[in-house]
Amino acid sequence: MAPEREYIPIARPLIGDEEKRAVLEVMDSGQLAQGPKTEVFEEAFATFTGTRHAIAVNSGTSALIVALQGHNIGPGDEVITTPFSFIATATSILAVGAKPVFVDVDPFDLNIDPNAVEDAITDETRAIMPVHLYGGPADMASIMAIAADNDLAVVEDAAQAHGAEFNGRRVGTFGTGCFSFYPTKNMTTGEGGMITTDDDELAARCRQIRHHGQSRRYYHDVFGLNYRTTDIASAIGLEQLKKLEGWNERRIANARALSGWLKHCQLPQVREGDRHVFHQFTVRVSGDRDALQQRLDAAGVGSSVHYPIPIHQQPAITELDLGDFHLPVAEAAASSVLSLPVHPALSEEDLVRVAGAFNQAVHA
Ligand SMILES: *Cc1c(COP(=O)(O)O)cnc(C)c1O
Repeated sequence: MAPEREYIPIARPLIGDEEKRAVLEVMDSGQLAQGPKTEVFEEAFATFTGTRHAIAVNSGTSALIVALQGHNIGPGDEVITTPFSFIATATSILAVGAKPVFVDVDPFDLNIDPNAVEDAITDETRAIMPVHLYGGPADMASIMAIAADNDLAVVEDAAQAHGAEFNGRRVGTFGTGCFSFYPTKNMTTGEGGMITTDDDELAARCRQIRHHGQSRRYYHDVFGLNYRTTDIASAIGLEQLKKLEGWNERRIANARALSGWLKHCQLPQVREGDRHVFHQFTVRVSGDRDALQQRLDAAGVGSSVHYPIPIHQQPAITELDLGDFHLPVAEAAASSVLSLPVHPALSEEDLVRVAGAFNQAVHA
């Protein structure tokens, strides 16, 4: 009999002794809420990304909300964004009272199509929110040019793209960067997020919004809520950040190996000069995707669909009557994408098993 094989999950957060020690240290310090560890984490993340400021918050969703509010985006304003993302991209726009305007994605990388952005600009448009989907950078040259021509803010949803680069430059440095530290992301703090910017005033505003809009104790100048993180989370984040680049390199190497082995699917595309950090390794398949996933599961290989329904077709969004969106590229992508394990905990043998199982399952 063949030896029992371990199931290969689609994601696996890596927590080491360093993280555990760092958490215990914070607990012993007595400073459990946001404090000095968070300041150190913010500085380290700003250095990593290459911005003057980084503002830690309690989730990636909070990062998007605080960044939008920091740009004074609210009721009556439109934000142009992609329908092919996690729903928080759009709900954060709704949370500040603004209207998400969905435009189609580029079939090349499934990121927002800059030509479609230009066509969707109205007098109400205040910002563009691209997503660096799966860890692959959106076309930031085109997006920043459109934003400059039309005096629009750019809020980058970089929740999946810590360390990704567009044309040699880190994402989160073009517009206002928003990152997530949810456990499946390239690095984690349990729950957490970060805003990155070079703009001193915007950074100060975001810090204020994060803490009830307070300027000094019990003086509240702007509307804010509690978006603060904890020093426990920041202690974990500091250790994870030290390991992030090694993990990203593993993801990139794993993606390269899978790309060389997989058959009968469309592989992820990366533009020359860009750095894709493979939060997900997502192929496009034809045929019965559910059956394919079942066969992979039976072979002990996890897979996932990011995302089965584009945001503009989600019931939570259609009930808002935001408009009639016909976005054929995103809609076709939703029915053909399939993510396979690419995370840094995979062994060489795991990778061979993922590819072998896929090639067999895709044929069956
Ligand atoms: C994970 C994610 C978010 C939300 O981050 P949370 O930390 O889970 O709130 C937003 N946008 C995208 C594209 C994401 O993948």
